[in-house]
Amino acid sequence: MAPALLRIEAIEVAYQRSIVALHRVSLDVGAGEIHALLGANGAGKSTTLKAVSNLLPAQRGQVTAGRIDFDGHDVGRMSTADLVRLGLVQVLEGRHCFRSLTLEENLLTGALGRSARRGEAAEDLARVYEIFPRLKAKRRVLAGLSSGGEQQMTAIGRALMSRPRLLVLDEPSMGLAPLVVRDIFEQLRRLNREQGLSILVAEQNSTVALQYADRATVLDAGIAVLGGNAQALRQRADIQSFYFGEG
Ligand code: ATP
Repeated sequence: MAPALLRIEAIEVAYQRSIVALHRVSLDVGAGEIHALLGANGAGKSTTLKAVSNLLPAQRGQVTAGRIDFDGHDVGRMSTADLVRLGLVQVLEGRHCFRSLTLEENLLTGALGRSARRGEAAEDLARVYEIFPRLKAKRRVLAGLSSGGEQQMTAIGRALMSRPRLLVLDEPSMGLAPLVVRDIFEQLRRLNREQGLSILVAEQNSTVALQYADRATVLDAGIAVLGGNAQALRQRADIQSFYFGEG
């Protein structure tokens, strides 16, 4: 198996000191792998991803045990901005586009953190438009007037503008029509297969996630209860209905 790019080792996360949201959760994402993090509402998926990018709410949530390494660096000591520079970039749940900016302006904000040489942002923009042609057609439309799918594509495109090695996505399918969800996962897989982009994706939609992932980890009430090859997990319809609700 490929060496781990991200290694989460027995982390515990507590909110307000005493509410334990994760109990010794471990998982790793290999270089070039798509790893799905599955589980019902409140299972701890977002908490895991926030811990990875150091985005837990200041004072109120913290990693109380375990460690997280990205490419050999201890993530616990790094700011989110430094992690982005190292290549660990997260697309938050709910997309978070700037509603009063156009889709293209939103995309360009993704290049701001990088000291790019002249013309680099334009090249990156062209690559994003190649992946999501719909964004090119709508590039002058305000994000606030765009569809949920266009906003999700924009949020992913903006993350791609900072040239990630590991893309972390929190529920990209949320609220989107099945065809749009497929389109987004197809493009994620293409980025993975053609450019070696590693992906960690949290999803309640286990059916789609297991179809595109190489491996998966299932969380239940903050505990990693199941993990392994996505294809093998797909066969386990009994476990699916139990842990994933309607999937
Ligand atoms: P969802 O799909 O609803 O986002 P999830 O699997 O991502 O679910 P989390 O959001 O990580 O789950 O929540 C895990 C647990 O932590 C839940 O019990 C939740 O109530 C709790 N929790 C999350 N954020 C906070 C917070 N800021 N303060 C206190 N408790 C929180």
